[in-house]
Amino acid sequence: MEVYLDNNATTMVDPEVFKEMEPFFCHIYGNPNSLHKFGAGTHPKMVEALNYLYDGINAADEDDIIVTANATESNNTVLKGIWIDKILNGNKNHIITSEVEHPAITATCKFLESQGVSVTYLPVNEEGVLDAAQVKDYIREDTALVSIMWANNETGKIFPIKEIGQICKEAGIPFHTDATQAIGKVPVDVQECNVNYLSLSAHKFHGPKGVGALYVQKGYTLTPLLHGGEQMGGHRAGTVDVASMIGMGFAMKLATSKIALAYENNHVRKLRDKLENAILEIPETLVIGGKENRTPNTTLISIRGVEGESMLWDLNQKTIGASTGSACASEDLEANPVMNAFGSDSELAHTGVRFSLSRFNTEEEIDYAIEAIKNAIHRLRAISSSYAYTPKDHVSEL
Ligand SMILES: *Cc1c(COP(=O)(O)O)cnc(C)c1O
Repeated sequence: MEVYLDNNATTMVDPEVFKEMEPFFCHIYGNPNSLHKFGAGTHPKMVEALNYLYDGINAADEDDIIVTANATESNNTVLKGIWIDKILNGNKNHIITSEVEHPAITATCKFLESQGVSVTYLPVNEEGVLDAAQVKDYIREDTALVSIMWANNETGKIFPIKEIGQICKEAGIPFHTDATQAIGKVPVDVQECNVNYLSLSAHKFHGPKGVGALYVQKGYTLTPLLHGGEQMGGHRAGTVDVASMIGMGFAMKLATSKIALAYENNHVRKLRDKLENAILEIPETLVIGGKENRTPNTTLISIRGVEGESMLWDLNQKTIGASTGSACASEDLEANPVMNAFGSDSELAHTGVRFSLSRFNTEEEIDYAIEAIKNAIHRLRAISSSYAYTPKDHVSEL
């Protein structure tokens, strides 16, 4: 049996989505900007896809949704656009973000710091959650942007986006959220939460890789990252990947319907909890950040005496795919800010294993995974030189 439990890294393209994309490679291939029937042939499905994107995040008709290559590009577009417009060509010089953002935010912020921008990285508490009131405390006269993720990719923790949106609105500061891990897992409503910019990536919700979107509220237009043709109303030059855009739209429709979100919250949550509870029955295991306030598909578990990397190797032997946290940070676990947020216990930082499910996982798969995980823990603890000597209560305190 093959069991894929790494859906926060990427997901399988839903076959329904692929079916929508297929005609746009060899049959309907015109450039949508061309003034002939080949180009125009792409329009109806593109419009439909765009409408699904608007509906999926409850964007208003007059707002913009710019199709990008991925969430990384969307995040860069916002941060660098704010930098050009409000910092280089304005009188602001400060950005507020969190310590646990995806590298697409933190690495961009580090770059902006190297250019003289002042950046505040808000820490998360021991539950892995950010306190919205902190945002208020750190807002300055020269704050140009607040950028806080909707849900964390490693712990699944959901951040208080509505409260932060309200605080930013009252302070008159633009608010961006990286919602890449929230789409299809929890309801996302940009109007209700006063979000001005939102990033997403199609391959995290069963759409194709290499396509994403940036939501821009009316009145919040930024200097584009890519200059060239007039595509996307001049906000993002370059011929759009028509098939992928259509795939993203249909993936959004499928992932954010009431039924899909209910399925995620009931069925996927039940499978995640079954897996998690089976592991927690084993002594000296814990859910990093605790069980509250998470996306229904994710669990980040620490298993005393078991190196995350060794666990992944054992599971891979059983054709089970999991992760030690962020795939993007997995070569650099020591410096992983999400793990560091839970204290300086370096052993804990090396024992995190992330299981992230999707609507395509079955109960049989979870049963198979539980068996394999238990065997792996047993085997790895038996050969661990440190395990027997580690004081027990050190980790159970957390
Ligand atoms: C995966 C992910 C990204 C980056 O997505 P890409 O498609 O690789 O650009 C950004 N933010 C979060 C929270 C993610 O999980």
